[in-house]
Amino acid sequence: MDKGLIELVMNANSLGVLTGAGISAASGIPTFRGKDGLWKKHRPEELANYQAFQKDPRLVWEWYLWRRELIKNVNPNAAHYALVTIEKVVENYNLITQNVDNLHTLAGNQKVTELHGNIMRSKCSVCSKPFLGKINLNAGVPKCEQCNGLIRPDVVWFGEILPQNAIQKAYEIAMRSEIFMVVGTSGVVEPAASLPFIAANNNAYVVEINPQKTPITDITDLYISDPADKALQEIEKKIIERLN
Ligand code: NAD
Ligand code: ZN
Repeated sequence: MDKGLIELVMNANSLGVLTGAGISAASGIPTFRGKDGLWKKHRPEELANYQAFQKDPRLVWEWYLWRRELIKNVNPNAAHYALVTIEKVVENYNLITQNVDNLHTLAGNQKVTELHGNIMRSKCSVCSKPFLGKINLNAGVPKCEQCNGLIRPDVVWFGEILPQNAIQKAYEIAMRSEIFMVVGTSGVVEPAASLPFIAANNNAYVVEINPQKTPITDITDLYISDPADKALQEIEKKIIERLN
């Protein structure tokens, strides 16, 4: 592990992190583009969009209920916990995630900005009113008590606009972080993909952790090609050694 990085983290006033599906891979949640990303021969991109929901809301819900079950049965991994340690040593720490799995919060991270919503929540597809009931597809896809619209997962689908407050916050974090870490994201889903570039343009020290190179790799100050759990656990270990 790069010793210079530990020094930088320990002395940083501000640190931002952007995470993607790769950080949860070691917890057993497949990434969209990995080999296990398929469900009943459907590609995630075919199901995670509004047109698919309009065409077959039941099919889309079946996929989400399958993913909810998967996520309910997994735990945060060493990477999520290491970020909690980093949060404790850096004064202005902020985490931006594209994940919808709630694992950062479950691990104990305090400052989490969810760009793509949270898979455990449901809302009305028309008026956005939160839906707190259980989804039981035997009774059909539930409808909104306020406007009769179909209930959908409270996540951002391909082609949809991100929650304004979340993306605003993310831009601010990217603009004012001394260190910006990018962990387990393919760097192709906008607008999250441009956050590392914004950070770099604002003189952040950009670190990427991903076993595969991405469009972000070229602009990084440090690229670590290890899986997130291994890389972040090593960073955490060095930080704890320094603290003792
Ligand atoms: P992606 O599936 O497109 O890419 C995942 C990236 O993680 C790849 O670059 C891959 O090389 C990397 N990766 C794989 N294993 C890794 C590991 N062990 N350590 C570090 N990196 C690893 O995911 P994305 O870029 O985050 O975007 C896809 C969208 O899909 C997101 O918007 C997200 O909302 C959604 N999604 C969420 C989850 C989740 O919540 N866990 C899972 C799948 C997809
Ligand atoms: Zn409604």
